[in-house]
Amino acid sequence: MKRYNSNITKINLRGILLKQARGELKMEILKVENLSKTYGKGDNQVKALDNVSFTVQKGEFLAIIGPSGSGKSTLLHILGGVDKPTSGKVFMDGKDVYAQNDTQLAIFRRREVGLIYQFYNLIPVLNVSENITLPVLMDGRKVNQERLEELLNILQIKGREKHLPNQLSGGQQQRVSIGRALMNSPALMLADEPTGNLDSKNSQDIVELLKNSNKMYNQTLIIITHDENIALQADRIIAIEDGRITRDEVVR
Ligand code: ADP
Repeated sequence: MKRYNSNITKINLRGILLKQARGELKMEILKVENLSKTYGKGDNQVKALDNVSFTVQKGEFLAIIGPSGSGKSTLLHILGGVDKPTSGKVFMDGKDVYAQNDTQLAIFRRREVGLIYQFYNLIPVLNVSENITLPVLMDGRKVNQERLEELLNILQIKGREKHLPNQLSGGQQQRVSIGRALMNSPALMLADEPTGNLDSKNSQDIVELLKNSNKMYNQTLIIITHDENIALQADRIIAIEDGRITRDEVVR
């Protein structure tokens, strides 16, 4: 009887692995439960997020749209472990993100999340290579030179390793910030208006880079955007208004 059961388990496991290999099996990587965030007190209180719940599958490319001030950045920051919710929970790979202490949360931010901002947020006194490898150095680990070389090539900034951010164009600076976000191969990439400061050619290049990394490493990608062309390239679009989800549509 025991042997019979273990054979069934083996067959089930094979089926699961096969489905996984074929990309048919969905794996939930992110679960957001009744998330609310209130800033300020008394008359100055602002409810930036109001009871938001959704799940995201591993490898999914999700676009978040909505008017300015609707709570998009607040949501992204909470997903990335940067800002704490007033109530509700975020689970990443089954782990309750905000049940962690501050040290664990800092490690989570460095290793499991890559954040990209509209204005790049590079350190002006550090060169390209130093900016990209910063998360590894902050983690007290040795830089993997092969990984750095690979990223410099993918990002097409080879030869500019020693340049400072102010010696680069906007598109190049955004590439460096993507490199920094990718250096630790995070499972989750979060981008807040990553093309908001770029022309249309550079915008599409940056989106292609993010999409390639999403596909190549099966990373989950969440982008906030005002650009309809970018939103329509996502697998799914979530619209937010006044801190609530008003639409959640699968595009492809
Ligand atoms: P979006 O990214 O959609 O433009 P945000 O998440 O930045 O929206 O902001 C949502 C609301 O929360 C806005 O009313 C904004 O003014 C407010 N808000 C955001 N961050 C803070 C903060 N640190 N302190 C006070 N209010 C804030």
